[in-house]
Amino acid sequence: MSKFRQKLQQLKVAQDSIQDLQALLEVSKRLHATVDVGQLFPLIVNKAIALTRADRGCLMVVRDGDFHIEVARDREGGCLPQDQFRVSHTIVRSVIAHKQALTRPDAWDDEALADQTSVRDLSIRMVLAAPLLIEGEVVGLIYVDSANPGEAMSEQRLQTLEALAGQSAVAFQQALLYGEIETLYQKTKILDRAKLDFIQIASHELRTPLALIQGYAAILPEMEEVTDETRKIFQGILDGTNRLAGIVDLMLLAGEIDQQGLQLQIYDYSLRDLVAQEVDVWQQAIAQDRCLELRVEVEDGPLLWPVDPGRLKMAISHLIQNAIKFTPDGGTVTVTLRRRAEDIQIDVRDTGIGIAAEHQGAIFEKFYRVGDVGHHSSGRTKFMGAGPGLGLYLTRSIVEAHGGKVWVESKNGAGSRFVVRLPAAGR
Ligand code: ADP
Repeated sequence: MSKFRQKLQQLKVAQDSIQDLQALLEVSKRLHATVDVGQLFPLIVNKAIALTRADRGCLMVVRDGDFHIEVARDREGGCLPQDQFRVSHTIVRSVIAHKQALTRPDAWDDEALADQTSVRDLSIRMVLAAPLLIEGEVVGLIYVDSANPGEAMSEQRLQTLEALAGQSAVAFQQALLYGEIETLYQKTKILDRAKLDFIQIASHELRTPLALIQGYAAILPEMEEVTDETRKIFQGILDGTNRLAGIVDLMLLAGEIDQQGLQLQIYDYSLRDLVAQEVDVWQQAIAQDRCLELRVEVEDGPLLWPVDPGRLKMAISHLIQNAIKFTPDGGTVTVTLRRRAEDIQIDVRDTGIGIAAEHQGAIFEKFYRVGDVGHHSSGRTKFMGAGPGLGLYLTRSIVEAHGGKVWVESKNGAGSRFVVRLPAAGR
């Protein structure tokens, strides 16, 4: 070969290498973006055939401890029946045993292969195979062959196939993980649905007998023959029943929001009155048994705003109750209301135990409570008093139904600030 032709040949090989690399890069991007094995496998085979200029190819994957052909394609991307695609078992076995890619540029020159049916019947000459390795284990294999011998390009094609196999293995592992996560997610969704259905049914069933007990418990303390001693006991029963009914109502409302969203009745209402009333309710509730300062800072004027007063009271009331419950005696809870350019801001600040950063996103989720449930005490205003973990979920649902936002700013041990923003346009 003349020097010139030799140079030309080298240049051609270099050009092909660059093209292969570019193609590999493209393939690699597509592989990593594909998490469905149904799409991933044909993509791997088609690209393997194209990159190695082979006639046909297949992807074998380990299933039940054995290698099976999952997808087989021809050069045009046409489907070849898996059960009729014949591979050279000598090559497959060797790739699996040595965990290394292998090429036979011309099977007719190879004594071990020349007589094999796959080689003879299909006039196969070039064969290339590369293992898919995950953590050192062969989990699959790409196999391509061609009726033309591949002498000149064999090394380069082998390297290309090896690189593709490396990328394919990563994509395959990613697809497997994605599949597992998807299955787990679906299972969790079913369990979650079952849990919510159970809670919903249980709450409905509890509501009727509870209303009955509530009715009788309310009459008992008023009866003439009741002594002061028993009146106290009856009052205790009534308070407990009312609390229980409150929790059941919260559960029913949470279920309702899940199913049909929150229905609001919006009209202009003085937020100044709303906040003042709620602070007042909680002042009285803690008067007997908590030593907390409950402050309110409200701008002048009625601050008329389009809201559903009943629902919004529920949300603000819950934030104040939480602030009381998670602030030890001697602390302060401050409720601030101010008008800003575009919206109204209500802050509920406390000097309590605070919330660690990792819990701050989750506390607005249904039934989420920070820390060990067993360590909570119970009671409406008691320090660390337990609840069903629905309050902030409902608060967020109510605020968002108004077109607003609620979030927390807090530090473990350094108090919390819950911020509610309500836009006027939110109606
Ligand atoms: P619940 O309905 O039981 O009161 P929430 O949804 O209102 O539950 O609150 C969820 C969790 O968020 C509470 O169990 C508590 O751990 C934490 N939390 C809420 N408000 C505060 C606060 N002001 N300070 C500290 N922790 C809080």
